[in-house]
Amino acid sequence: MDKLVSLCKRRGFVFQSSEIYGGLGSVWDYGPLGVELKKNVKDRWWRAMVHERDDIEGLDAAILMHPRVWEASGHVAGFTDPLVDCKTCKARFRADKLQDAQCPQKPSKKPGEHSTCELTEPRLFNLMFKTFMGPVEEQAAVIFMRPETAQGIYVNYQNVLNASRQKVPFGIAQIGKAFRNEITPGNFIFRTREFEQMEMQFFVKPGTDGEWFERWREQRMAWHHSIGLAPARLRWHAHGPGELAHYARAAYDIEYEFPFGWNEIEGIHNRGDFDLGRHQEYSGKKLEYFDQAANERYLPNIVETSAGADRVTLTLLVDAYREEEVEGETRVVLGFHPGVAPIKAAVLPLVKKDGMPERADRIFHALKKQFPCFYDDSGAIGRRYRRMDEAGTPFCCTVDGQTLEDGTVTVRERDAMTQVRVGEANLVEWIRERL
Ligand code: ATP
Repeated sequence: MDKLVSLCKRRGFVFQSSEIYGGLGSVWDYGPLGVELKKNVKDRWWRAMVHERDDIEGLDAAILMHPRVWEASGHVAGFTDPLVDCKTCKARFRADKLQDAQCPQKPSKKPGEHSTCELTEPRLFNLMFKTFMGPVEEQAAVIFMRPETAQGIYVNYQNVLNASRQKVPFGIAQIGKAFRNEITPGNFIFRTREFEQMEMQFFVKPGTDGEWFERWREQRMAWHHSIGLAPARLRWHAHGPGELAHYARAAYDIEYEFPFGWNEIEGIHNRGDFDLGRHQEYSGKKLEYFDQAANERYLPNIVETSAGADRVTLTLLVDAYREEEVEGETRVVLGFHPGVAPIKAAVLPLVKKDGMPERADRIFHALKKQFPCFYDDSGAIGRRYRRMDEAGTPFCCTVDGQTLEDGTVTVRERDAMTQVRVGEANLVEWIRERL
């Protein structure tokens, strides 16, 4: 992880927020390469969940919502983690994660293991960020930063249904920011206080929820494979009776094997009719669906798929990172699937003379209209290839002496480091086929 964090900073994937002021705890900014990588994650999710399907609609709900939403959802009463303080070192830990935590005192031990540790009894701590709406900072003006995007979907379920041609079963998908005042954030961008979720709520007829749950499990795992994650490092974790939220009928996490252990990257939940039931109760508005074909009314059940855009981005980085020995030197490669790589191709003139830079510049600008590309004419060609390996760029197109004679460039492929000659006129198509 240390190597990856430092590569991310050096190459402009991820920076610590407000770094010149000493940073802000567990808040991160995405640099030029990171913003492209994360955008590719979100775009591929949106394409798979909305554009390629005819039974899911998109939504972009606001972060701020009516405070009653969070009472109905159960977040005001129950979105809490048990918190333990150490009176000696003033550190805070999640009571249910003490085994994974470290006491700040040296030598490194778990909280409570030093003779001087003095842990308090666990107390419940609400993870929602609070703020005030309007000029008066009083209890009546308290609103929350949403801790999940799902509620924006539930409260708009009828709007979307009325505005679209959808019938149950159908889904609503949304990508957006969520905020959680996590007690023990960490592991880089794995657990942060501000993050983006990619959530889809699928509304189904009661009784068909089990079958849809299984279908969504299968599709979501297939999506993680499709973005290039190694299947051997992905697994299912079924929530046992102790872990299952009281309203959930079934819940499975997709876990990835990070350097810090197996951890959740997406949850698939069979939520029954809990969400619409609660919003119906708290808002006093009927949220039932009238099924014309069957001539019956019911409250749809919900199958949810909930993934973190930042977590999936971290997973791609971890999965792609490798070091190799090449000709006595260590080569660092981010072996991204070309479809998610931030830069798709680099254009490199072999030398800065003989008309090569001009020709390369022309090719670069033609490619740049099609996909993100990078131009580099500084340093030995080998070094330039290595720089692109570290950025995860799948193809390097070198303009050399032969280009000037026959109009072909050398395309060097990142993983196998093989080189082929491709005609300038076919270059866009050649690369596009491989994305
Ligand atoms: P955890 O047990 O890790 O706290 P959770 O079970 O609370 O997660 P959900 O509420 O199911 O997570 O959220 C769905 C997804 O949102 C998670 O799978 C994860 O990808 C993402 N996510 C949740 N909390 C965070 C966070 N603090 N930072 C980054 N991503 C997060």
